[in-house]
Amino acid sequence: MDFSKLNNKIFFENKFINSKDAKIHVLNHSLHFATSVFEGIRIYNKKPLFIYDHIERLFVSSKIMRLNISYSQKKVYDTMKKLIKINNLVNGYIRPIIYRSSHSMSPETYDCKTLVAIACWKWGTLFSNDGISMNISKYPRLKNNIYPIEAKSSGSYQTSVISRIDSKKKNFDDCLMLDLNKNVAESSACNIFWVKKNVIYTPKDHSILNGVTRQAVIRLCKRNKIKLKVGDFKLKQLLSSDSVFLTGTAAEIQPVKRILNKKFNLNCETINFLKRKYEEIKKKCPESLNSI
Ligand code: PMP
Repeated sequence: MDFSKLNNKIFFENKFINSKDAKIHVLNHSLHFATSVFEGIRIYNKKPLFIYDHIERLFVSSKIMRLNISYSQKKVYDTMKKLIKINNLVNGYIRPIIYRSSHSMSPETYDCKTLVAIACWKWGTLFSNDGISMNISKYPRLKNNIYPIEAKSSGSYQTSVISRIDSKKKNFDDCLMLDLNKNVAESSACNIFWVKKNVIYTPKDHSILNGVTRQAVIRLCKRNKIKLKVGDFKLKQLLSSDSVFLTGTAAEIQPVKRILNKKFNLNCETINFLKRKYEEIKKKCPESLNSI
């Protein structure tokens, strides 16, 4: 799909305009220096899931990237709600992006302004019930004394994009990324969990994007008395597990069928239970993680 051909309205330069007119100049600072920040929010039955948590992370990301948004969180919230209405979006995705204008062509930001755009589109489920295959990326996920990993920034996706291209060439669907100490971190755009003997494991959050869906799944485990261990785990531990799944706003709860040559059980009771619980959440579509 060519997203530049979307046939709906986008919030751009403080107005709701036709998508085809939402253009930025090729000498845009964020395009050259990869400093934009963005979010992805699912819309289920006209309602944005965990919109508060996504807006909060958008503002944290902006602060980390020294982007001074002139809008309040309330204005971003109201604009998103209006955009969903204007586009009559029932099930889809909303993508706010904060970026710099074209007032500099060096890392010095000079008179660059911080700009806000919000787009949305119809989007069905991405996950495959048959499970996905993964190889291992050659790039590590960094930690925040080396790179601003907590920000959902365009720069953070460079290694995800390269690794994903390499995975596809080798006939894998996605890749696993390890941290600098070779502990399991996450996939190119999702967090990772695995199950061994009814205990769920997931990496700590020092070298990952701490996903909103990850936080929802952790809450579900706690609420339903599923044993959960959050820690630093080696690849060997992950490969010796029974079942593996990824979490993300777009992918939801995605089972993994294989990492390299190691196959996993796709019919795991614990994962099926979490999937059912996640479906219940989608039906209610709370605006905040605090209400699950
Ligand atoms: N890690 C990375 C690198 C991601 O890009 C994403 C998607 N935003 C996630 C994890 C999952 O985050 P969330 O559940 O908030 O979508």
